[in-house]
Amino acid sequence: MNYAEVAVNSPGSRSTFCYAVPRRLNINAGQAVWVPFGSRIIQGIVLGLSDVPSIEGTKEITGIIADVPLLSPIQIKLAQWISNHYFAPLFDALALMLPPGFERRAITCFQLADSHIENLSSLSWEQKQALDIMRAKGKICLAELGKAIGQKKARQITDQLLARQLISKTLELDKAKIKPQTHSYIKLIANREDVKLEKDRLNRSRAYKQAEVLAFLTEQSQPISVSELRKHLNCSTATIKSLESRHLVSVDMVRVRRDPLAHLSFTTSQPPVLASSQQAAWESIQDVVVGKAWQSGSPPVFLLFGVTGSGKTEIYMRALAQAIAAGKRGICLIPEIALTQQTVERFAGRFPERVAVLHSGLSLGEQFDEWQRITEGNCDVVIGPRSALFAPVPSLGLIIIDEEHEWTYKQEDKSPRYHARDVAIKLAQLSGADVILGSATPDIGSFHKAQQGEYQLVELKERITPRGYSPLPEVKVVDLREELKAGNTNLLSHPLLAAMKETLAQGQQIVLFLNRRGTATFVRCRNCGFVFRCPRCSIALTYHSVEKKLICHRCRYSIPVPQSCPRCSQRTLRFLGIGTQRVEEETRHFFPDARLLRWDRDVITRRYTHEELLRNFRDHKADVLIGTQMIAKGLDLPQVTLAGIINADTGLNFPDFRSSERTFQLLCQVAGRAGRGVKAGKVIIQTYSPDNYIIEAAARQDYPGFYYKEIDYRHRYNYPPFSQLVRLVFSHTNEELCRREAEMVYRLILDEKARKGMIDFNIIGPVPAFAFRARGRYRWQLFLRGPDSTRMLSQLTLPRGWIIDVDPVGMV
Ligand code: ADP
Ligand code: ZN
Repeated sequence: MNYAEVAVNSPGSRSTFCYAVPRRLNINAGQAVWVPFGSRIIQGIVLGLSDVPSIEGTKEITGIIADVPLLSPIQIKLAQWISNHYFAPLFDALALMLPPGFERRAITCFQLADSHIENLSSLSWEQKQALDIMRAKGKICLAELGKAIGQKKARQITDQLLARQLISKTLELDKAKIKPQTHSYIKLIANREDVKLEKDRLNRSRAYKQAEVLAFLTEQSQPISVSELRKHLNCSTATIKSLESRHLVSVDMVRVRRDPLAHLSFTTSQPPVLASSQQAAWESIQDVVVGKAWQSGSPPVFLLFGVTGSGKTEIYMRALAQAIAAGKRGICLIPEIALTQQTVERFAGRFPERVAVLHSGLSLGEQFDEWQRITEGNCDVVIGPRSALFAPVPSLGLIIIDEEHEWTYKQEDKSPRYHARDVAIKLAQLSGADVILGSATPDIGSFHKAQQGEYQLVELKERITPRGYSPLPEVKVVDLREELKAGNTNLLSHPLLAAMKETLAQGQQIVLFLNRRGTATFVRCRNCGFVFRCPRCSIALTYHSVEKKLICHRCRYSIPVPQSCPRCSQRTLRFLGIGTQRVEEETRHFFPDARLLRWDRDVITRRYTHEELLRNFRDHKADVLIGTQMIAKGLDLPQVTLAGIINADTGLNFPDFRSSERTFQLLCQVAGRAGRGVKAGKVIIQTYSPDNYIIEAAARQDYPGFYYKEIDYRHRYNYPPFSQLVRLVFSHTNEELCRREAEMVYRLILDEKARKGMIDFNIIGPVPAFAFRARGRYRWQLFLRGPDSTRMLSQLTLPRGWIIDVDPVGMV
């Protein structure tokens, strides 16, 4: 094959470029190469090969980055699908699947040319200086030369010197960010007799250290690492070298694995006997799992709909065991890095030494080594957040998505803006794998698909606890209006306080949940109405009582707590809203002896803090856990018998068609944290709108009841799953320009709609985005809504700078 289609690492491109393959190179699809692009040399991935070029006048591939292909044919197809479906640059999609630390730049280096320098006097002083530096250094890269004489100068001067052929230019690969880690191990290779003779000789010639090393190594039954040896004997490299040169010892480099689970210990567990509810569910899954029912051309997708604590994880592990028995491997996705440990512990207990983890909280070295281990087939399951989907798992047979309704499965902040659920199903189709989606509160779209027969619905209706089957915890709804009438303006109502008191007296644990969306404390002037906002992001600043500061939760901008209003100079500032810190303060006030733990993004900073915090709570080092969204994400906390929801209403009135779904899921999930252990649990929901159907359904833990109301609403207003949404966002530092651009694109789409006569297709907006200003940029957005919005979009050419978000999880 003489030509290669290459996806290049240059922003924006959704197509490949054709390059000629030089004869000296042996190139395969999936291989990483260097290619010329404009005036630069950049990284590219070969996606395909052909005998005929797709364009005229192709350039040549410069060189190979790695000898073996980095991506499999399946991964290439998956990346192409992601790029197409999400309108994402091809390289962005491929980059999801590249080894950690892969992306590197080519750097330009210079050295003196062989040619004889004829007339130095014709050179400028600066040119001579640059030549002197190169003479002294040998080879030097542009950046380094720039440090000596200034970046701009360096570029000018090297250009001049190149033109006069006084220097030559080469391209080199930037230093690798990460490499396999090796340790050197030392061992004796001479036999006992020789060692003894040598020892005597060394002692005679006063080489005591060498003799000591020999004596020490004689006592070791196996090779010992050189650093270990040094710890014992404090010997120099020269000592070891001289023993090595006389063939008494050998030093070998041994690759060591940076194991992210090294700090954990696992207890091996045997599969329990399935409860009858699980047995029934398992029977409907087991015949299908591992590719048996694959006639239809699409992979079997199971929606495992099981109430909180119904033993879904056990079903996942059975399915994985079956996949392994068939010679396959699996991936298990979890919604949050914070939940990794909990899931890893259960899987590692069942599949010892065969579990890998992948997430951004690991060091690059750990990620690299786990990646390598996965590629080599040395594990059976990869556990991690959405990105773990792209692990290079050979013979993939099963993909599990736990808590499939979670919004964290959608990558929103950067391209490609993919949803792990949809990508997983595509990947399953390409690799012949099966998919299990699990949730107590399925995504409305997923449940709809199950109703339509597209997914296979499997139910687990009973909650399993160490007491056997157990009803879901008893839920009490507290009407906060009544509390107000009775003169209680605290965050904690009387019934909640009473329940907390009882729980603490019995030595059990409590979780208090605060839905923080839109509830953070902000500061307003009672006199003139002024609200403190971030000058860069325009969202209200949040009051932090500990630091005594107002902080922007988007960009961390902060100011000290002001004494008076900057607009009317009155000392009439009021602190509104509720934050986790206020809940903490109030709890401390009522229960001074209780040990409290606050869990929100502010306290989680260092690497293991999530794990530490959870472990501390699970080990009962605290009595009350106060937290936000994180608490609602599938935690298994057996000693919790009371869950309190501080204010169920927040989020209900959020201007988003998904706000009901989200609120319902949050409430049910938090309620589901209580009573998972030996003791029964209790849930208290505080609300100002006890009659709201969402609150009512959540209190009854009635998913179907909620679903039928919600799906009816979606149908009536033509929201997903009955239509497809695409969000288009434009941002700019100039407000006026931003608005005009948004209106221009609106008209562009309107024209297209009229030309094609698409009546069932509409445009929502353009409107300013909810956080109108983010990091100093204004943002406007509009939504396409129709039966097939992506197809409509593919027929348009948007101006530069627009962000496309296909199937967005929210509208604000
Ligand atoms: P879910 O994932 O549905 O919330 P889990 O898988 O965490 O539920 O199960 C809830 C609890 O029940 C766990 O503590 C688990 O160890 C236990 N459990 C699950 N299945 C069984 C079983 N067959 N026998 C005994 N205990 C079980
Ligand atoms: Zn800000």
